[in-house]
This record gives sequence, structure tokens and C-alpha cells, in this order.
Amino acid sequence: MQFNTIIEPFRIKAVEPIRFTTREYRETALAQAGYNPFLLRAEDILIDLLTDSGTGAMSSRQWAGMMMGDESYAGARSFYRFEAAVKKITGLAYVLPTHQGRAAERILFGTMLKPGDIVPNNTHFDTTRANIEDRGATALDIPVAIARSPQFIAPFKGDMDLAALETLLTEKREQIPLVMLTVTNNSGGGQPVSMANIRGASELCRAHDVPFFLDACRFAENAWFIKLREEGYADKTPLAIAQEMFSYADGCTMSAKKDGMANIGGFLAMNDGALAEECRNREILGEGFPTYGGLAGYDLEAIAAGLEEVVDEDYLHYRIRSVEYLGERMDAIGVPYIKPTGGHALYLDAAGMLPHIPWYEYPAWALALALYVEGGVRAVEIGSVMFGHQPDGTEKPAAMELVRLAFPRRVYTQSHVDYLAEVLEYLNGMKEEIRGVEMVYDPKVLRHFTARFAMR
Ligand SMILES: *Cc1c(COP(=O)(O)O)cnc(C)c1O
Repeated sequence: MQFNTIIEPFRIKAVEPIRFTTREYRETALAQAGYNPFLLRAEDILIDLLTDSGTGAMSSRQWAGMMMGDESYAGARSFYRFEAAVKKITGLAYVLPTHQGRAAERILFGTMLKPGDIVPNNTHFDTTRANIEDRGATALDIPVAIARSPQFIAPFKGDMDLAALETLLTEKREQIPLVMLTVTNNSGGGQPVSMANIRGASELCRAHDVPFFLDACRFAENAWFIKLREEGYADKTPLAIAQEMFSYADGCTMSAKKDGMANIGGFLAMNDGALAEECRNREILGEGFPTYGGLAGYDLEAIAAGLEEVVDEDYLHYRIRSVEYLGERMDAIGVPYIKPTGGHALYLDAAGMLPHIPWYEYPAWALALALYVEGGVRAVEIGSVMFGHQPDGTEKPAAMELVRLAFPRRVYTQSHVDYLAEVLEYLNGMKEEIRGVEMVYDPKVLRHFTARFAMR
């Protein structure tokens, strides 16, 4: 088309009001929540960018599919529809539904790992890491070096360091039962992984006879970046690109709360029949019979339809462009963020924006609080509150002090993004007034969820 405005590729059929509150109300709400946005009531938030996980809007096709859910305990029609949708994209032979992504991880690692093992990955997501460590194994991150330079612009900052992988496979093969690759690299700024890197990792794994698994949560967003940025893919459909990505893998874990476009669900899939059998037995222990795996029949229907919709070009164009558009607005007002913008989120660089707040007064946390008080927006800190606590009880600054603005799928429109940009412009203009925080309750595990703070 000859017009440049990218519009939301949907019209709205059901609406949910969002609630406007005053600045004074939000200050009180935040004080009552111990200055922790996780402890706010969702109805006190105007625009909620805490996560893109399970927060998307389902389509009328998905809702209609839910009415068709077959709730039979075993062998439900909905399972076969779900299985066919997963196989069409992944080509993998055995498909096990799970209640979400971490359940797939728990089943896979519970079956494959023993104490002392090592699992390499570009960057492990926190639940992936936790499930590996729970088995007494080591979750090893080997991203490419440029992944650690927030301002450096490169097309595939989510890639794995293949030289490091080769060294590991050569020197420690017996300790490595599988290799994982996360697409897109969520903990690394939502950055994509190139097809060349997926293929290269796969070839190394095959040469050393090690199973290669994708953490496929955002496979469609990754496929879209490959189409836009990698030579030879411009004319291919996102589905064909996704199919090629999976063709290099021996299996995958997936959270359907991301690119499954559903509010709950996930799956584990693989080609190895003997492994699938062991995983199915473990699935029965924790999730349920292997044709429902912790989900209702209607959830399986919603995921099946979601997997078809997520590879739609108009959808992916709108999705990736929304985040990029916010990035352009940030460039215009001089607010620093991780470049280039990723698939599902924009990551503000709070250390760069608030140099007057030292790391031990948690600049990214402080910025997240200011976003809520001034604009009613909720975001998540990815900085020294989340990562500063060391296993030996000491505190160290995180590598970066970031605030992640994650976009729920098909939920907000361009005017919401314009509002967000205006709030950030306002915050940037009064940033010297933003104060740091002191942690007054410091829980020992995953402390960002329940910690409490006082304003400095
Ligand atoms: C969300 C996520 C998971 C875990 O999925 P859940 O459905 O939240 O359990 C695993 N890996 C990545 C990359 C994720 O983004």
C-alpha cells in the first residue's frame, strides 16, 4: 500500500475499561504497597507493562474455539487440533502440552539432567535457570560479546557465542546432556537470534551428538526479525522461516503465554521417542494425562488458534513496529534505552538517565516508581534489586540498571504508546527530582516480588 501509517490490524469487539486515578491516589497506593509495583492492585494501574506473558487479548476466533473445547479426560479432539498446530510449525514428532513454559522445563530437565551437568544457552530465562539449578546442574550463559553493549546497534544481538559453544562441547562433552537456545533472547533485551546462528549451533551439537533444544517462547517475533534483517529471507513467510528455525532443533520448550497468544499454557516437543516416553511419565506425575497436560480442552483450542494467528505478517509488522515507534520517540527526547528495540519490550537505561542515583539506591526501581506515580504506568525493574543479591550474602551492582516496558499482545493502541512517550518526556524533564530508594525488607529468594522500600 502507498500509505505509511501502520494501523492496528484488528478492530475492537470487546472492551475493558482502564481506571484513571489521581497522582495523590497513586502515591498512597504505592506507599501501601511498600513501594513495590508487584504489590499494587492491577485495577489501580492505567497502562500495565509489567509483562507480555499471558496478558494478550485473544481473537474472536480463539474465543469461538474455546466454546468448541473437548473436555474429555483422554484423547480429546482439542488435543489433536493443538498437536496438529504445533507440528505444523515445529515439525517435531512428539508434543506434550503443559500448563506453562516452566512446566515443560521441569519435565525436560527432570528427565535429562543430573548434578554436575552443564546446560549452555545464549541467555537462560530466570525459570529456565532455576529449573536447571534445581537439578544440581549449571545454567551457563554464552551470549555474543555485543549483547553486553546496550548502545551498540547490531541486527542479531541475541546470538550465541558459537566459539564458546565449540570449546565447551570439545572439552566438557560428558557434562552436557543438551544445549538450549532462547529465541528471542528475553533476558538479553528481547534481541533476535539469526538463522545462521541457529544453524551453526545445531551443526556443532550434531557433530558432538548433543541434543539441541530451542526455548521457543517468541519464535514468531524472532522469525519476523530474520525476515527483516537476514539476507535471503525477505521473500519468505514468517511460517516458513519458523519452520526452518525448528528444522535445526531436536526439541523445544514453549510458553504459550507469549507467542502462543493465549492467557495460559505451554508445551514440550521433541523427536526422540524414548525421551518423549520418559517425559510423558514425568508429565503424568505433575501435569496430568499427556493429552491435556494441566490445561482444559478449551485452552488447547485457544493455543491452536493462537499459533496460527501469531505468524500473520500484518500482526507481526504492527507488533514489532509498536516497540520501535516508542524507541524513536525516546531518541527524539534523549532518553537512553537498549538498542535496537527488541521484539516484546523496550528496556530503558535507568543508569544513563538518572546518574545522580547510585546503584545501591536502585535507579531503575526508582524510575519504575516515578512512572507509576506520575503516569499510572507499571513496568518492571531489571537491575540491582532483581540481580544484586549474591549467593554469599553480599550485594553487587547488576550489569545494567534497566526498566522493561513489556507490551501485551494486541492490547494497547498507538495512542496508549503516545501517552507513554509523553509521560517519559515529562519524567526526563524532572529527572533530577527523582529520588533513590532504600530496601527496608529484603527477602532472600526472588526478592523483587516481595521486597519493600522507603523513599530516600
Ligand atoms: C516466559 C518464559 C519462560 C517460562 O514460561 P512460563 O509460561 O512463564 O512458565 C521460559 N523462557 C522464556 C524465554 C520466557 O520468556
